[in-house]
Amino acid sequence: MAKKVAVIGAGVSGLISLKCCVDEGLEPTCFERTEDIGGLWRFKENVEDGRASIYQSVITNTSKEMSCFSDFPMPEDFPNFLHNSKLMKYFRIFAENFDLLKYIQFQTIVLSVKKCPDFPSSGQWKVVTQSHGKEQSAIFDAVMVCSGHHIIPHIPLKSFPGIEKFKGQYFHSRQYKHPDGFEGKRILVIGTGNSASDIAVELSKKAAQVFISTRHGAWVLSRISEDGYPWDQVFHTRFKSMLRNILPRTVVKWMMQEQMNKWFNHENYGLEPQNKYLMKEPVLNDDLPSRLLYGAIKVKSRVKELTETSAIFEDETVEEDIDVIVFATGYTFSFPFLEESLVKVENNMISLYKYIFPPHLEKSTLACIGLIQPLGSIFPTVELQARWVTRVFKGLCSLPSEDTMLADIIERTKKKIDLFGESLSQTLQTNYVDYLDELALEIGAKPSFGFLLLTDPQLAVKLYFGPCNSYQYRLVGPGKWEGARDAIFTQKQRILKPLKTRTLKPSSSSPVSSLLTILGLFAVVVAFLFQLQWF
Ligand code: FAD
Ligand code: NAP
Repeated sequence: MAKKVAVIGAGVSGLISLKCCVDEGLEPTCFERTEDIGGLWRFKENVEDGRASIYQSVITNTSKEMSCFSDFPMPEDFPNFLHNSKLMKYFRIFAENFDLLKYIQFQTIVLSVKKCPDFPSSGQWKVVTQSHGKEQSAIFDAVMVCSGHHIIPHIPLKSFPGIEKFKGQYFHSRQYKHPDGFEGKRILVIGTGNSASDIAVELSKKAAQVFISTRHGAWVLSRISEDGYPWDQVFHTRFKSMLRNILPRTVVKWMMQEQMNKWFNHENYGLEPQNKYLMKEPVLNDDLPSRLLYGAIKVKSRVKELTETSAIFEDETVEEDIDVIVFATGYTFSFPFLEESLVKVENNMISLYKYIFPPHLEKSTLACIGLIQPLGSIFPTVELQARWVTRVFKGLCSLPSEDTMLADIIERTKKKIDLFGESLSQTLQTNYVDYLDELALEIGAKPSFGFLLLTDPQLAVKLYFGPCNSYQYRLVGPGKWEGARDAIFTQKQRILKPLKTRTLKPSSSSPVSSLLTILGLFAVVVAFLFQLQWF
């Protein structure tokens, strides 16, 4: 009999978990507290309790070809970075294509998940739900927690002495919807994450003046990279990831700083990170530097104190007549439906094996999906998590001993702090390609370059030097997709298609490109041999 799996939440993580359950022949039931799919990407004018809330203008900061699920490329004509409404369209066609809606119980909130009371060591779970005021319970063989982590606002009022005297308006970025009503105001935005930067830029077009207060600074990247391609197509290649892993740290640090300052000098703009060698999540914002050049936004240091109408900063400068403060200070998370002993959250840190499995369960039948912040897109990341988890539930993959898992968690946390620092915003941060490969290895879906070099060298070159997209994990192993190779080779076409809105005469191809392919092939052989020596 097929194992029954409860999936909590129908956002990105929940949808892909449903698909993976179906692919593995499991029997899923998804509980979604709201009336629709999409999670945080479904914009609403009002803020809802228990669900993430976005502003009307949110556009993805990871590109469509790096954000689609591995056997379902986004439509050719979709733009490369998607407005939230467009991404919702993708979720809808994805759900329809794989017939996922029939598994979802909408307007059903999960109240509790407890070990099956009659057989606590069976690995089964009693899930209590509430729908239209009516409580129900059912027993499941496994649970996938997909409830998101951008729901509870982190609003550190204690770090802002004088806030109680402040006479203007203040709120968390979660409350921000659009710039209407802020015309002519003097606005202070706290934080330099992606929310702070987006909101500051948008408000600066209507406000009298916007200030952005940063305590540690940030690297700001454009969505547009080399030759006009999306940044993540260029940044997330296996070759670059390999270089970051094998080169001495000082060289990597130097290279990173050079790369980040290519677009503009962060020191000149007052944005240079305090610890510039951390790999903290960059801000993706095409307009922020120009708004700074126009003087529409001014960068300030950490707020030392607030008065009734003004803000005093760490460097003793003062800005008077502040009307509004936006706390774009990130999020904390919790799992109100789980007992603390199952998944304990402390200072936004969580002890999960590979960010997924609580290590101390008798049976590995509970998993968290999407409780992570990869340096690349979360979509392929949660897909690989769900592919692995469903195979663990099915008994096709197994986890190591509790001690091994605990040791891995400690080691990973150390590395994470070393790479990304200890800020609250970085507690779920991970490398991208390395983490994807690690998960793919668990299910036998990591492509073998040695083999490909001999059998399909053209593909090997693409895989090594091209963008590390999700299709790469459908070339081999369980869930192999016949269209994967073609999707890799037609990627450029889908990137360029939405830009081809004006007919131009085709330009002739140059012989240099053939030479580059040969050189690329040579380099991949060298890189492969080089790697062999290291393992
Ligand atoms: P959510 O989208 O939050 O979905 C969780 C779902 O669970 C919701 O539908 C909620 O109603 C439901 N739920 C919660 N509790 C319960 C319960 N007790 N019972 C039943 N249902 C419940 N990542 C990227 O890779 N690229 C981007 O461009 C990007 N942009 C972002 C922009 C913003 C503004 C933010 C905040 C994040 C962004 N992220 C991005 C990261 C983001 O976390 C992911 O894109 C993704 O949406 C997370 O999906 P999720 O399904 O894990 O969580
Ligand atoms: P975030 O990334 O956690 O950033 C929070 C910011 O607040 C950081 O700059 C942090 O500074 C600052 N901060 C926190 N506590 C503070 C304090 N006590 N005093 C002063 N500053 C403080 O939160 P976010 O920007 O809301 O982003 C959340 C996630 O959503 C991220 O993954 C982000 O990429 C994503 N997102 C994406 C988009 C998009 O795609 N367009 C838009 C918005 C958000 P420190 O760095 O110094 O800790």
